[in-house]
Amino acid sequence: MKNTSPKTAELGKLLYKLVIQFLIFSKGQHKLLEPHLLQVSKQLKAGGNLGELTQELQAISKTLLHISKQEQSKKSGSDQMSQNAYLLQQIDQLLTDTSVPLKFQQHKVALRRKFKAELDDEAFNQIIDLAVALLCDIRDYTVSEQKDIDVFLTDLTDQLSEIEQHAEQVGQSTRLSMDHREELNSEINLRLDDIKGHANQAQELSALKAVTTEHLERLMAQLLAYKQSEDERQQHAERQIAMMTLKLQALEMETEALRSKLRVEHDRALCDALTGLPNRLAYEDRIEMEANRCRRYRNPLALIIWDIDYFKRINDNYGHKAGDKTLVLVGQLLKNNCRETDFVARYGGEEFLMLLPNTDAEEALVMAESIRDTIENCGFNHNGESVNLTICCGISEFADNDQHDDVFMRADMALYQAKESGRNRCLIYGSGFAQAPI
Ligand code: GH3
Ligand code: MG
Ligand code: MG
Repeated sequence: MKNTSPKTAELGKLLYKLVIQFLIFSKGQHKLLEPHLLQVSKQLKAGGNLGELTQELQAISKTLLHISKQEQSKKSGSDQMSQNAYLLQQIDQLLTDTSVPLKFQQHKVALRRKFKAELDDEAFNQIIDLAVALLCDIRDYTVSEQKDIDVFLTDLTDQLSEIEQHAEQVGQSTRLSMDHREELNSEINLRLDDIKGHANQAQELSALKAVTTEHLERLMAQLLAYKQSEDERQQHAERQIAMMTLKLQALEMETEALRSKLRVEHDRALCDALTGLPNRLAYEDRIEMEANRCRRYRNPLALIIWDIDYFKRINDNYGHKAGDKTLVLVGQLLKNNCRETDFVARYGGEEFLMLLPNTDAEEALVMAESIRDTIENCGFNHNGESVNLTICCGISEFADNDQHDDVFMRADMALYQAKESGRNRCLIYGSGFAQAPI
């Protein structure tokens, strides 16, 4: 056995103590350490000295290094995650604060929906690119709209000042005409006074006749000149008024064209191009309005979500065009079999929505069953070959304290249950079948 110096022996004791303290401290701290800790404590209990523990202590040292690296990368990963979440939050805020033209509303809704999904780095980068592209498109569109409006306003200002000039000329001409008439009046009065004066003093009829005739002739000549100049003035004023009318008509047409362009853009943004029904964006507007009305008047309001059964098979078996025709047909059947006051929209894909004011869930179910039956028996076929066409729906009634999505989520759960329980079914949320999906 080797002789050890007192100093080395003391150091050995200290190390021994440290190992025991380490064991106590590290117990339960990390699952990777546990087997090594157990081994060391077994060896210590068996009276092992530090030398015998060397191998296990080296293993512990390596494990600690490994754990520390792991923690480091986890931390930088979670820093990255929170940085990503912060960026998304900022972009979301930017989109909320930016006044987004109707044309881009659907893009915005679709993009913001993506924010809520779990995102890996690639998906995150894609979303950032999409958001930047959307914001650039909005900026370009707004700038070009602004330019159009500027051109229109400049044009309008020019045309209005031209009309103002015409109106001024017409006014001047009327003022002149009034002055002229007053001049003529006083001229006539003078001449009449003159004739009266001559008549009072006249001694001979022939002299009186001569004076009167001369005065009358001059009066006649003045009246003729007055009439001529008034006619000219009148014609001039009429020409000015005709010009003003033309300009005003042109302006009205331009304004109407602009108004109808705006109307078309507005309608297009709220309309589904394939079925001609209102789209998801229009539904989002409408649910807000109907929900407010139902709260105010305490009337029931039902929501139905429809989804065609096995629609993918129709696409797969008969082609995408046949699929599109099916969507148009189902859209029409839904629209034609509900009330004027009900709202039908294509929500997306093969899903449709119906909002039924003044209708509770039970009444909605009666109507939905009849529509479901109509669709099942509509004789749908492809080139004469009969094709099964059925549909499911989930129904829910609006409740007072509902947030926007609540009624939708309940109807969606009911739809899920309708699918699960065999398809070609209509179900009310909470009617026994409809429980939250597992
Ligand atoms: P389920 O009974 O469970 O609803 O099954 P499904 O096949 O109806 O539903 P799934 O979600 O599997 O398929 C929907 C299909 O609808 C997939 C998609 O290609 C198709 N689709 C979505 N939009 C359109 C469209 O505008 N036209 C056509 N032809 N197909 C569309
Ligand atoms: Mg679907
Ligand atoms: Mg479907």
